[in-house]
Amino acid sequence: MQITEIYKSVQGESTYAGVPCVFVRLTGCNLRCSWCDSEYSFYGGKKISEDEVFAEVQRLSPHGGYVEITGGEPMLQEREVVPLMQRLLDAGYNVLLETSGERGLDTVPKGVVKIVDVKCPHSGEPDTFRIDNLETLTTRDEVKFVISDRLDFDCARDFTLRHDLAWRVNAILFSPAFAKDATGSRDARHCLMDPEQLVDWMLADNIPARLGLQIHKFIWDPAMKGV
Ligand code: SF4
Repeated sequence: MQITEIYKSVQGESTYAGVPCVFVRLTGCNLRCSWCDSEYSFYGGKKISEDEVFAEVQRLSPHGGYVEITGGEPMLQEREVVPLMQRLLDAGYNVLLETSGERGLDTVPKGVVKIVDVKCPHSGEPDTFRIDNLETLTTRDEVKFVISDRLDFDCARDFTLRHDLAWRVNAILFSPAFAKDATGSRDARHCLMDPEQLVDWMLADNIPARLGLQIHKFIWDPAMKGV
C-alpha cells in the first residue's frame, strides 16, 4: 500500500486522546477540506507491503497497544488496508480508523473503532458523508464534526439529532477547526472559532456531544508533522 509515514506519538483527537499510539498514515485523499492539516499526504509516499507495515508497527510498539490507521483517506486503499487492520487486531492491537466517511465502511473489521468525520459546510466538502455508513456504526465508534462557525454548528447539531447519533455511537465530537497554516504559539488563538463560543452553543442547545480539541496542536508547534 502507499504510505506517507509511520510513527509513534499520542493520540490527538477522540476519546482516546492522550494514549500512546502508532500512526499509519496512508497516502492519497479524494477530498480537499479547506482546513486540512494533512495535505502533505495527498501525493508521494512510498509503496510498502502489508508485511513491512506490520513489522514497523511491531518495532514501534512491540507489546501491543493502539494503532491508528489514518491519511489522507485510508479507505481509498480498502483492498490492502482491510487485511492489515484484521492482522493488527489478530495480533492483539487496538485499532482505530480515522476516515472521512465518504467511502463505504461495511468491510471494516468489527473490532476496529471507527472515528468518522461528517463534513460541515465550511469544510468545502459538505454532503460527502455516505449516509449508508450510519448502519455500520456501533457503540464502539465515534463521529466527529469540525466546526468553524454557526452554520457549521447548526449542521452538526441537526445531523446529530436527526440521526439519533447519541444512541448509535460511543461519542460525538464537536471540534473547533484549526488554522492549517498555524505555527509558533500553542494555544487556542489558532482555532478558527473560539472553543468557548462552541461550548456555549453546545450547552444552550443541549447537544449530547463532547468538545474535541486536537491536543497535539497544544503539545507541539501546530505546524509540526509526524507527531
Ligand atoms: S478528508 Fe481528511 S485528509 Fe482528506 S482533505 Fe479532508 S481533512 Fe484532509
